Amino acid sequence: MSTLVSAHAKVSRRAARFTESVIREMTREALKHGAVNLSQGFPDFAAPEAIKEAAARAIAADINQYAITWGAKDLREAIRDKVQWYLGLDVDPEREIVVTCGSTEAMIAAMMATVDPGDEVIVFEPFYENYGPDAILSDATPRYVPLRAPDWHFDRDELRAAFNDRTRAIILCNPNNPTGKVFTREEMEFIAGLCVEHDVLCFSDEIYEHILYPSEGRTVEHISMAQMEGMRERTVVINSMSKTYSVTGWRVGWAIAPPEITNAIRKVHDFLTVGAAAPLQAAGAVALRMPREYYAELQAAYQCRRDFMLGALRTAGFGFTDPDGAYYVMTDITPFAHLGHADDVEFTRWMVREVGVAVVPGSSFYFADHARELGGDRQVRFCFCKTDATLTAAAERLATLGQR
Ligand code: PLP
Repeated sequence: MSTLVSAHAKVSRRAARFTESVIREMTREALKHGAVNLSQGFPDFAAPEAIKEAAARAIAADINQYAITWGAKDLREAIRDKVQWYLGLDVDPEREIVVTCGSTEAMIAAMMATVDPGDEVIVFEPFYENYGPDAILSDATPRYVPLRAPDWHFDRDELRAAFNDRTRAIILCNPNNPTGKVFTREEMEFIAGLCVEHDVLCFSDEIYEHILYPSEGRTVEHISMAQMEGMRERTVVINSMSKTYSVTGWRVGWAIAPPEITNAIRKVHDFLTVGAAAPLQAAGAVALRMPREYYAELQAAYQCRRDFMLGALRTAGFGFTDPDGAYYVMTDITPFAHLGHADDVEFTRWMVREVGVAVVPGSSFYFADHARELGGDRQVRFCFCKTDATLTAAAERLATLGQR
């Protein structure tokens, strides 16, 4: 007992400053209550056969020892080729790529490699929840700039005012989790202009780059921050296999950055994890060389899931702006105010227990009481990277909301 108490007292100030992930907690809650899990963003459908077979072959061929710490050569070359065709960027696989354990590690390693204590990092809010602890673990001081509902725009003056002498970097998640926003070319130009003017880096989380929802008369394109004028030399592109190839459990991601920054990220990465799983890196090289139709099919399948989900949410009475990208929709729960729930957390707990659908409370994407100021305590996030059967079951349960 006394050992436990003294061990507890030794928890670092850093670790004490953040809580466990609400998203991953909701997954456990869903299991406990037998709810349909639309909280955590992982597909519940099969990964592509070709990739699974490549992984099995790699293990059978005894690619079972440490890979080169910054990534197997053929995977880095496959990343170079894919980035060349999709983003039109020339990347040197020997000097500008680090393969990591998911984009999660790529982000924290990039921040630890470039940010000094006291440096400020600008974060659009609501934000993917890892960025908060990432800032704490890398000693950065986060500075939040709101994306305002319902259309998730940012105020240019507010963003400009967030840049100052201490600003080291900005985190851009595009396409955006949790809002589904895809930043327009004009918005990207504005952000890039500020980064160049203030000599600031951009950590550009692009893991949803292939999940876009263009529609008739509405162009939605993925633009990498590294493509913007003056940004290639100051951008760390962060990406992974997780979402594009439906293998979130494989934990293979990467960072692309200019050589000097890549060097620093490689060192941090080496001592954090040594490297990502070698046989899965071999399968990654196959995945990144999939024919281009693969990406078109992925996008078309997500378009169907999104349209179905939005229909179900509309019928149930949620408010929202249609997402342009990623596989989430952040909804407004004020239409359910008559049910008497105090806030998004209470609403979410009731949903998982009584309606049988697990979602994520909006406030978990905001810093502390910013949720109340910005309306996050009246929002919940649904994810729709699920099979037809899962989405149909969710829709049936959500349909009962109208009768409550
Ligand atoms: N970045 C964003 C914006 C995400 O939504 C997620 C997962 O949901 C991640 C990073 C984590 O990705 P990975 O599995 O590559 O670590």
